[in-house]
Amino acid sequence: MDEKITLVAKKIKASKQLIVFTGAGISTESGIPDYRSQGGIWDKFSPVYFDEFMSSKESRIKYWEQRLDMEKSLSVSKPNAGHKSLAKLHELGFLKTLITQNIDGLHEESGIPKENIIELHGNTRRVRCMSCKKLISWEEAQAMIDAGDRAPECSCSGFFKPDTISFGQAMPVEETQRAAMLSSKSDVFIVVGSTLLVQPAALMPEYAKNAGAFLVIINLSDTPYDKVCDVLIRGKAGNVLKKIVEQVIPE
Ligand code: NAD
Repeated sequence: MDEKITLVAKKIKASKQLIVFTGAGISTESGIPDYRSQGGIWDKFSPVYFDEFMSSKESRIKYWEQRLDMEKSLSVSKPNAGHKSLAKLHELGFLKTLITQNIDGLHEESGIPKENIIELHGNTRRVRCMSCKKLISWEEAQAMIDAGDRAPECSCSGFFKPDTISFGQAMPVEETQRAAMLSSKSDVFIVVGSTLLVQPAALMPEYAKNAGAFLVIINLSDTPYDKVCDVLIRGKAGNVLKKIVEQVIPE
């Protein structure tokens, strides 16, 4: 593992267009369960598809119950060693583009500016009306739920929904295009904590690899790209990223 860490650190130092791509696995060490690991969210709940959310109040209530369950871990979560190491890479000037599938806002909280983060699946700390597109804060939505409204609605009668992308919901066009364009221009592309099963997000490492990037995967379980990547590290994101950054920091 040490040799792999040294090689990745060297590649980062020599990179011109480094991209880090994160998934739910980087936030498990902050206490937020991922979807597909044992004990993950899909062991407990089944997903509510976007068309179900839009067509059935019962589904909207189920969706909000899942979101409230996530809040138990989200409300007490803090950026962990993995998030902080990436923030350090940004501070050192190596990391200008972070693409994330995560919806928890922890990268921004760790100190990476909003403009350097592409959130492919939105952010669950804000809530959007599905009709008039008005945004409200999570706290405002929670106050409506606490007052007895199990599936809150906007004053325009539209349905409020956390501002994230559900299964079956259209991807944000601008973010997806920008992520694809930057991925295909990267020279070092590092995946952290993702099964790389959710499309089209999981196409980003492929764009990078096809363009000749050095592809690194840091993940606890298998991904479809394990055989084509240049370095595969089976380890916990926090520990691995911390060690990598320690070797990147100029002496
Ligand atoms: P996933 O659940 O499919 O995969 C997570 C991967 O991370 C697994 O392969 C697991 O082995 C690995 N992992 C878990 N803990 C790790 C650790 N400490 N270090 C290294 N690897 C670790 O998640 P995904 O690929 O991101 O895709 C699922 C979708 O889940 C995403 O679209 C995302 O929007 C959503 N999601 C986000 C959060 C969050 O924002 N924190 C949480 C759950 C789900």
